[in-house]
Amino acid sequence: KTPVPSDIEIALSQTPKDIAVLAKEIHLQPQEVDLYGSKKAKVSLSVLERLQTQPDGKYVVVTGITPTPLGEGKSTTTIGLAQALGAKLRQNVIACVRQPSQGPTFGIKGGAAGGGYSQVIPMEEFNLHLTGDIHAITAANNLLAAAIDARMFHESTQTDKALYGRLVPSKKGKREFSPIQITRLEKLGITKRNPDELTEEEFGRFSRLDVDPSTITWQRVLDTNDRYLRKITIGQSPTEKGLTRETQFDITVASEIMAVLALTKDLADMRTRLGNMVFASNKKGEPLTANDLGITGALAVLMKDAIRPNLMQTLEGTPVFVHAGPFANIAHGNSSILADRIALKLVGEDGIVVTEAGFGADIGMEKFFDIKCRYSGLIPNAVTLVATVRALKMHGGGPKVIAGVPLPTAYIEENLGLVEEGCSNLRKQISNAVKFGIPVVVAINSFVTDSPAEVALVAKISKEAGAFDAVVCEHWAKGGEGAADLAAAVKRACEQPSNFKFLYDLNLPIKDKIETIAKEIYGADGVSYEEEAEKKIALYTNQGFSGLPICMAKTHLSLSDKPDWKGAPTGFTLPIRDVRASVGAGFIFPLVGTMSTMPGLPTRPCFYDIDIDPITEQIVGL
Ligand code: ADP
Repeated sequence: KTPVPSDIEIALSQTPKDIAVLAKEIHLQPQEVDLYGSKKAKVSLSVLERLQTQPDGKYVVVTGITPTPLGEGKSTTTIGLAQALGAKLRQNVIACVRQPSQGPTFGIKGGAAGGGYSQVIPMEEFNLHLTGDIHAITAANNLLAAAIDARMFHESTQTDKALYGRLVPSKKGKREFSPIQITRLEKLGITKRNPDELTEEEFGRFSRLDVDPSTITWQRVLDTNDRYLRKITIGQSPTEKGLTRETQFDITVASEIMAVLALTKDLADMRTRLGNMVFASNKKGEPLTANDLGITGALAVLMKDAIRPNLMQTLEGTPVFVHAGPFANIAHGNSSILADRIALKLVGEDGIVVTEAGFGADIGMEKFFDIKCRYSGLIPNAVTLVATVRALKMHGGGPKVIAGVPLPTAYIEENLGLVEEGCSNLRKQISNAVKFGIPVVVAINSFVTDSPAEVALVAKISKEAGAFDAVVCEHWAKGGEGAADLAAAVKRACEQPSNFKFLYDLNLPIKDKIETIAKEIYGADGVSYEEEAEKKIALYTNQGFSGLPICMAKTHLSLSDKPDWKGAPTGFTLPIRDVRASVGAGFIFPLVGTMSTMPGLPTRPCFYDIDIDPITEQIVGL
């Protein structure tokens, strides 16, 4: 077998076609395309209006079995499948993927543009700043963070009267409440709309948010793995008069604003969601939102370009939308609804959109269906479930797989026993997908070390377990050509009738929804709640948020809560430590164990290998 060059060598050996040419190929009109140089462009949301009456194409989600820490090739398969559908089957196709965070790019995992001969190019643009969407989220998130602390400071140092005078804007010399302030007056039960008619007591109530500092859930963010920001003290300058507070930084992709971007359907909806983001409770226990701070308009302005999907291409010139990249544990881990909707219109009735859901099927796919599809109203036609012999051997009891350490021999030599044993995980993940009423095609992502007998065994077990089909694919080594059979199987699956259904009803109490996911998807016997979780469930139910969908924050390395429990564990109780809410984005997220929202750097991070040739400007090591 021919050795495959490194990802960056392959990526750099291909010259991307001019993005304006690609935009024309997919029938975008010039005014709908905002070029960012010649390799990437932003696409206007007005496409949705123009193509309103155009029927959608078929909608395929790529997910996977429970992975090893190395990743089993979901991104690579998303791109490989799109390349195969486009170049081999001459099908209108668009792939929709997440924009990666710079944290993992310079930290442990590296970039996320796919791999081998199935990649998004230029991969250095894809993995780095792209068109600045993540930077916009950082700016908006931190503006809100600054506003919270500044407001607490001003409330503690000013009288009601002084505060009130400054908070009501004046237009042409006349003081008027803004629409957001009127919403706040309504919330407070104050019926007067002329600022000068409010009594002392009323403007006291209107102007003071009375943030309870112990309830603040809004953190500052940065798109860098910086463990020393996991706990910090702010306000230490004498100008803040001793009002210090312990807080933390999260990685930008964990910001609720990223989840808002991914779930939004248009600019008006994004503005509403941004305004509804809850950052704390007041001293009476009532939720406080971005609207209460009067900051919603400014946040929407900062996000106005980020809301438009980014157009790029695969190594074979297939169109790709890169848009949003929410954390897959405390958020839902899927690319944007807007990119998928625009893509479904652009490919037309006979076309196919391939979108990727982060982590394994128990997490990314479940959230794709129960959160993303619920908000978008889109109905998927097929699931592509990526499996590797390597991960199945690990589930069958193979030695631990560690990133950066060479694979033990069990993973290099044929071992049908380990593969068969490990298929417990594959069976469970197939049944998880089948529960939603969608046909499942297993994509066996082949590695040079796989034996024909191992691969044949996985295909046989997949079909016995209820998969519509199971296909070996070699798109990593051969590009689209290597996934031609997969593309044909996915196309046939899309022609099957879809009986799509959600896993749970939104009107169920929070606990019932959590238990449904734990039992049906993870295989747990039941769920236990720590005191903090019980308290928050009661709080969110009281505050009126219990009708939101659930976004479980669980490890992706096991179906259970224990990363070391491989295969398909049974007989366990799922422990819920705490429960949080992203009210603006629109979900409740129970924390199964502890979740780090700020990764650290390892001893030898990816940045060690990254460099640029000052003469040719060629990048190496990404
Ligand atoms: P995921 O999206 O599931 O996390 P990726 O598609 O990012 O996984 O793949 C993880 C890594 O594995 C990438 O570096 C990719 O190049 C590599 N990879 C994927 N498929 C293969 C394969 N068939 N053979 C060798 N390496 C592969």
